[in-house]
Amino acid sequence: MLRIIFLGAPGAGKGTISDIIEKKYNYKKISTGDLIRAEVKSNSIIGEKLRPIVDKGELVSDDIIVEIVKKRVTSKYINKGYIMDGFPRNINQAKELSKIEVDREVVIYLKVGNEEVIFNRLLSREICKNCEAIFNTKNKPPKVEGVCDICGGILEKRTDDNEGTIEERLRVYIEVTKPIIKYYEDKGVLYRVDASISIEEVFKKIGEILN
Ligand code: ADP
Ligand code: ZN
Repeated sequence: MLRIIFLGAPGAGKGTISDIIEKKYNYKKISTGDLIRAEVKSNSIIGEKLRPIVDKGELVSDDIIVEIVKKRVTSKYINKGYIMDGFPRNINQAKELSKIEVDREVVIYLKVGNEEVIFNRLLSREICKNCEAIFNTKNKPPKVEGVCDICGGILEKRTDDNEGTIEERLRVYIEVTKPIIKYYEDKGVLYRVDASISIEEVFKKIGEILN
């Protein structure tokens, strides 16, 4: 079993790249952001509790997210490996994940040069209401404006992709998520990839790491 973990600031391309890796290699993608958004959309009791946290750009509690992740990674539908997008996001989550053993662990840190790139990417991001596919009106536009290439669903902005929330997400990232880079570096499993280049080039670099 292989575990690939993507680390990087919001807008670094974790979701986009994990979608590509999932398809090419047949590993299962586990995006905690997608899972949380699905919960919020379902209007469940827990979803209603999570909504304001996500909209503010804060992290949901470790108990909730760790339980969700553990259930997924031990699912019988995963046989070759899985990709973590958006998890772990702090040291405690990283330690919890390490308790789940795998044959090989690869951690890829997608590094973006500056905050301006991040703001630009997030402010022009659109996701499919139906399948969560990620588009970008500037860098990766859909074939038909406002319509998902994959399933024909309607594209929409994420409610947390606004300037105020992005600022808070970046602050949280720098304060609690960035320190896990060192955790994985010490573990000897960290690879750095420049994420300010094109998606194709990032994918090529990751292919070299995986092979
Ligand atoms: P981003 O595009 O900023 O990487 P995600 O789609 O991964 O955002 O996550 C969106 C929101 O979901 C986060 O701002 C946070 O509120 C919540 N979330 C996602 N993953 C986690 C996690 N591992 N721990 C706590 N909260 C999380
Ligand atoms: Zn779609």
